[in-house]
Amino acid sequence: MTKYEAVIGLEIHAEMMTASKMFCGCRVVDSVEAEPNTAVCPVCLGMPGMLPVINKQAIELAMRVGLALNCEIQPYNVFARKNYFYPDLAKSYQISQYEEPIAVNGWLDIDLEDGERKRIRVRRVHMEEDTGKLTHVAEGGERHSLVDYNRAGVPLLEIVSEPDMRSVEEARAYATKIRQIVRYLAVNTGDMEKGVIRFESNVSVRPRGSDEFGTRTEVKNLNSFRALVGATAYELVRQAEVIDGGGKIEQDTLGWDESKEVTFSQRSKEDAHDYRYFPEPDLPPLQIEASWIEAVGASLPELPEAKMARYEAEYGLGAYEAGVLTEERPVAEWFEAAVAAGGEPKQVANWVLNHLFSLMNEAKLGIEEIKVGPAQLVGLIGLVEKKTINSNTGKDVLAAMFATGAEAAEIVEKKGLAQISDTDALAAMVAQVLADNPDNVARYLEGQTKLQGWFVGQVMKASRGKANPGVVNQLLAAQLAELANS
Ligand code: ADP
Ligand code: MG
Ligand code: ZN
Repeated sequence: MTKYEAVIGLEIHAEMMTASKMFCGCRVVDSVEAEPNTAVCPVCLGMPGMLPVINKQAIELAMRVGLALNCEIQPYNVFARKNYFYPDLAKSYQISQYEEPIAVNGWLDIDLEDGERKRIRVRRVHMEEDTGKLTHVAEGGERHSLVDYNRAGVPLLEIVSEPDMRSVEEARAYATKIRQIVRYLAVNTGDMEKGVIRFESNVSVRPRGSDEFGTRTEVKNLNSFRALVGATAYELVRQAEVIDGGGKIEQDTLGWDESKEVTFSQRSKEDAHDYRYFPEPDLPPLQIEASWIEAVGASLPELPEAKMARYEAEYGLGAYEAGVLTEERPVAEWFEAAVAAGGEPKQVANWVLNHLFSLMNEAKLGIEEIKVGPAQLVGLIGLVEKKTINSNTGKDVLAAMFATGAEAAEIVEKKGLAQISDTDALAAMVAQVLADNPDNVARYLEGQTKLQGWFVGQVMKASRGKANPGVVNQLLAAQLAELANS
């Protein structure tokens, strides 16, 4: 690919988490778990004479996304009919937006591996309705298709970028960030396995240095980052080979064969005019008041990028820690609750990243599902700070808190884990260890001072991990010095 430059534009479909569908009162249900065709009505089944009604919540969510992507929200919106004949939509058309979408001219900055940032322009964001799901069955030579209209009419956003991405990595970074933002905005669950976000990758190549675009192909229905990356990389190589072989790229709509890892042609050239778009006669144009746009703008949550910058500036966290803690909103909220409960930010970050996350990974639990609350972690950190327990014991206490939901102090008390800082008790333990190990004492006195660590270990063991290591170190040094002088 050195001879050619990649040009990539993405169209991202994201379902919106509204209570009801885009144009009817049907509930939006989990399209994987719900019984087929249990959330349908005459409107989303395309019965003659039924009239659509616009879902206000969907408009609000679409505005959120538009504003978060730095778009202008258009006050004048028109819905359009996109006509096509396929059983995944019973009406034989999809209500979408065409000439007057809700949001235009935005941008999103992505972070690249080398620490560079790059601005990707967002051409438009528009609302439409999702289609039903077809399942094709082939049994003993008989072939038929099953259709489930639960998803038909679910509000869908399409986010269209300009062809600004120049590598597969940039496409991945952009798609990842869009997913993160729609999750932060509570517009979409981000649950890719359930198909709530789907990508279409528009790909072309051109000779390096050229400023004209080559002919593009469009790979549809990419349901994972893996598929997005695989299909885009495959198309880039294929197109370069076609051109190198003296051929020409035909504009085409492609599918991605996940198992063979190849693209395949789905239909020949398909243009906007094939859809015979026209303004939806059953819906009046939608006027969005400036005051509504303003109110939605004011209600946007702090977005990951701003949050991360704030964690670095306000809490003194490193970029890595700040990035991980802000990656998902529930984690960021948990962290902030711990800080609000009096936790020192760096210490909280350290406990969350180094210990809590590994417990969560092991148990396969998200932070909303765990039994340890933010204030409880702060309680645990306090015990370590006060040296009631040392940090190693602290880890065990956290594991017990994670398993039972009990307070740190309660566990320390019940299990008798409080650290022994009492000098007399520890001095006796140190003396005992030295008395029990005359050979090592002799070696130490001959100059093998590294044995100090070994002696500390023995005392820790004797105390079953409860000795205050700082105090033990001091006592050991003093007693060994005494032996050296005697
Ligand atoms: P439409 O599909 O409505 O005709 P476009 O073809 O202009 O609209 O754009 C659809 C998507 O394809 C956009 O994301 C755009 O960035 C991308 N795109 C347009 N031209 C190219 C190209 N030559 N190479 C790669 N992507 C492109
Ligand atoms: Mg397209
Ligand atoms: Zn319905």
